[in-house]
Amino acid sequence: MKITLLGLGLMGQPMALRLQQCGHDVVVWNRSNKPLEEASDAGLSVESDLSKAIEAGEVIVLTLSDAEAIESVLFSDQAPSSLQGKTVLQMGTIAPNESRDVGARVNSIGGEYLEAPVLGSLPEARTGQLIIMAAGPEAVYQHCLLMLRCLGKEVEHIGTLGQGAATKLAMNQLIASLTAGFSQSLGLIRAEGVEVELFMKLLRESALYAPTFDKKLKKFLEHDYSNPNFPLKHLIKDTGLFRRVAEESGIDASISEAMLRVFVSGQNAGYGEEDYSSLYEAINPGFDAETDIGC
Ligand code: NAP
Repeated sequence: MKITLLGLGLMGQPMALRLQQCGHDVVVWNRSNKPLEEASDAGLSVESDLSKAIEAGEVIVLTLSDAEAIESVLFSDQAPSSLQGKTVLQMGTIAPNESRDVGARVNSIGGEYLEAPVLGSLPEARTGQLIIMAAGPEAVYQHCLLMLRCLGKEVEHIGTLGQGAATKLAMNQLIASLTAGFSQSLGLIRAEGVEVELFMKLLRESALYAPTFDKKLKKFLEHDYSNPNFPLKHLIKDTGLFRRVAEESGIDASISEAMLRVFVSGQNAGYGEEDYSSLYEAINPGFDAETDIGC
């Protein structure tokens, strides 16, 4: 299949490479030049002209940061290309309403639209192990299924447009609250000098345990959040989206509100580009990373 991928960020490049490895004919575009050079070095066909990039693809995959980026790439006055006859496959994390709006606008100019946000990060993108939450018209889903199966180990058609986006936000709300909850508990354990491994041993035996706790424990103990797959700034974006959507749905969003406040304080302290688990530092600001021995 001829695929154009727009947005060569952390997720875009490995997804493009994976699609190419599966035998698809892939062209990539990015707003800034450096990722295009890196993509070319990695063996991808790059196109710096957005119109030409869109012309080349039958399916236009969006791996852009947010709805604002989609607006400026597809619909702004500067957006030069026609989407007539194209299938737009939106794979970033945006709100259900934002996705429905993008879908309606793509349809109004003669294109088809499917949302397919993903759970998993760079390693899963590289190896086709993502969890994909597609939603939209069945025929468009079927059209994209082969390529979605190349990217994901689990590909589900959730339902109508917006329901995939909602499922993704529900998942990311769990990333935020599980990490924040564990950070608070671990903070107390360390503040009281309880042996961390003893706490972990009991926690692992309990119904409260989640694998993400062990996955992030080393980062918390070493205060090292470098080389992020999913930076704190993206979790802030997604927690903000969840809060807004929850409020619109009549869900009390004050827990998300509080998390957001703490996460933003972490960003203000310089952790925005670090791994999202650096929210631990905002929750436990009393620790001195230099002297802490991670007991
Ligand atoms: P990223 O590394 O921050 O890349 C963002 C991409 O969007 C870049 O290509 C950037 O282009 C482009 N962009 C931003 N604003 C733009 C604008 N106004 N006009 C044109 N292009 C613009 O993000 P990512 O981690 O790849 O994530 C992409 C999407 O997938 C996000 O919605 C994210 O929440 C979601 N997601 C991420 C992960 C993850 O683990 N990273 C996992 C699941 C889902 P420039 O290079 O020019 O800035």
